[in-house]
Amino acid sequence: MMPRVLFSTGWFDILLRQPDRTGDFSMDTFEGKMKELLPVKKEERWRVYDRAKGACICPSCPSYSMCAQGNGEVLFCIMGMSFRCIRDDAGCTCPKCPVYLEMGLSKKDYCMKGSEKDQRWEKVFG
Ligand code: SF4
Ligand code: SF4
Repeated sequence: MMPRVLFSTGWFDILLRQPDRTGDFSMDTFEGKMKELLPVKKEERWRVYDRAKGACICPSCPSYSMCAQGNGEVLFCIMGMSFRCIRDDAGCTCPKCPVYLEMGLSKKDYCMKGSEKDQRWEKVFG
């Protein structure tokens, strides 16, 4: 059974909101979450990210490395690609992650290709 992401306060309440509460049906789930985060202060965002890291399943992925573990690198879908620790593609388990579902993500290989936001942006301009 898929583990649930237990978000208690702050951003996590924001994450659990549905984008259609904004009344904007043109946005997908990820776009809605990002839009709701825009007015959130950076300090609160960092707290949110720190809590979300606990739900990231990257450490059990075959592409994850000892280097990434040593540097505490996770949550690549939001934080962006691995700075220098992951370069060998041995597969990506992101679609099985609870964060993937909660955030409405659609890409993968975030540690090697960049965050969801970056990959979507590249598609627009690529
Ligand atoms: S979707 Fe991938 S990068 Fe994002 S938290 Fe889950 S396992 Fe980590
Ligand atoms: S982003 Fe995907 S490929 Fe990279 S470590 Fe996480 S699950 Fe594996």
